[in-house]
Amino acid sequence: MPIYEYEHIAAKGSDCEDPIETMQSISEDPLSVCPECGNPVRRIVSQTSFAFPIDLNPDKTSKQGFTTYRKTGKGTYEKAGGEGPNTLSAGDD
Ligand SMILES: [Zn+2]
Repeated sequence: MPIYEYEHIAAKGSDCEDPIETMQSISEDPLSVCPECGNPVRRIVSQTSFAFPIDLNPDKTSKQGFTTYRKTGKGTYEKAGGEGPNTLSAGDD
């Protein structure tokens, strides 16, 4: 599970001003208040959160709901994988 970091938006009269770190599953909603002091917090995009790998293999991307196209000519594209239309055209220009 990724670790999310939150900072206090306003810590009025609170001695709880440090950023907080919490481990949450991706499907969980982000915290809006600090569990310690109840003041509003916002999520910081921190270096500890992980990046999703970009994999452009058409077979894999189609399984994830993406449609991949390969360029076949000037302004025309042919589907390589996925659910979209078989060909794309950039139009006659
Ligand atoms: Zn707090």
